[in-house]
Amino acid sequence: MTTITVLGSGSRGNAVAIESDGQVLLVDAGFSSKELRARAEAVGLDLTGLCGIALTHEHQDHARGAVRLANQCGVPVLASPGTWSALGRPGKRSHGRGQIGFAPLRSGGRTECGPFTLAGCAILHDALEPLALTVTARDGTAVGVAFDFGRPTQGLRFLFRTLHAVVVESNYDEVLLRTSGYPVSVQHRIAGSGGHLSNRATAQFLGDLFQPALGTVVLAHLSQQCNSPEVARQTVEPILRSRGFRGTVHVAEQDHPLPTLRVGNGAQARLQTEFEWSDGRSDRPELLFRPLG
Ligand SMILES: [Zn+2]
Ligand SMILES: [Zn+2]
Repeated sequence: MTTITVLGSGSRGNAVAIESDGQVLLVDAGFSSKELRARAEAVGLDLTGLCGIALTHEHQDHARGAVRLANQCGVPVLASPGTWSALGRPGKRSHGRGQIGFAPLRSGGRTECGPFTLAGCAILHDALEPLALTVTARDGTAVGVAFDFGRPTQGLRFLFRTLHAVVVESNYDEVLLRTSGYPVSVQHRIAGSGGHLSNRATAQFLGDLFQPALGTVVLAHLSQQCNSPEVARQTVEPILRSRGFRGTVHVAEQDHPLPTLRVGNGAQARLQTEFEWSDGRSDRPELLFRPLG
């Protein structure tokens, strides 16, 4: 069984725990190590099984507690070489218990960590070498995580084409951004290609990604000024449903973890059934089905 637990998400910190075979991989660690431990404990997530901490990029809301927690738990940090260098290559220094291990993640490459295989894809963001990631467990369950990107690229659509669960940013509502009182230059930066994804763009992106195995969607990294959980859900969910999505949509919170979500169970069987059923239907995104075989 594979589960995901969003320990928190927003501009003040992001962390997603993926658990399978008794081992846990954190994707981003944007809270202090103490806060990460407290949030894990609050939802019954056992971090003694932590096997690594993967980072999407170096911004503090994604990387704040990574080095300290990795050091405390004796696990490697997995990141792009650019992200690692922006963090000051902490593996070259001693941090109390020893040196932090570093495993490079590369756009287009694959990296193993415990029972997980990670794949990365470059995204557009004002960081040194930011990545979106997929994490595939031994049971075949695939989870995608994408934060902080202004627009989806073809590479990202390709990487995310066969997911069972996705945690994706749904940062702002376009009207709320325009009426937020932010200076126009800030609005342009948020809405630009290196900024953040609007609810509408997320809805479109997820609608395009939909295939029957996708059973869990978590909307994340919501702006507190220019969005609300209700607005994000109301923008995204109808579009997903209109494409045939029958899974669950969750909205991650900044201040509290979401309950642990089981992902992938039964999805393979459903995928096969619907794959056959949908064969030849012109209203289905056939391109998305081809790589599954
Ligand atoms: Zn960022
Ligand atoms: Zn961020």
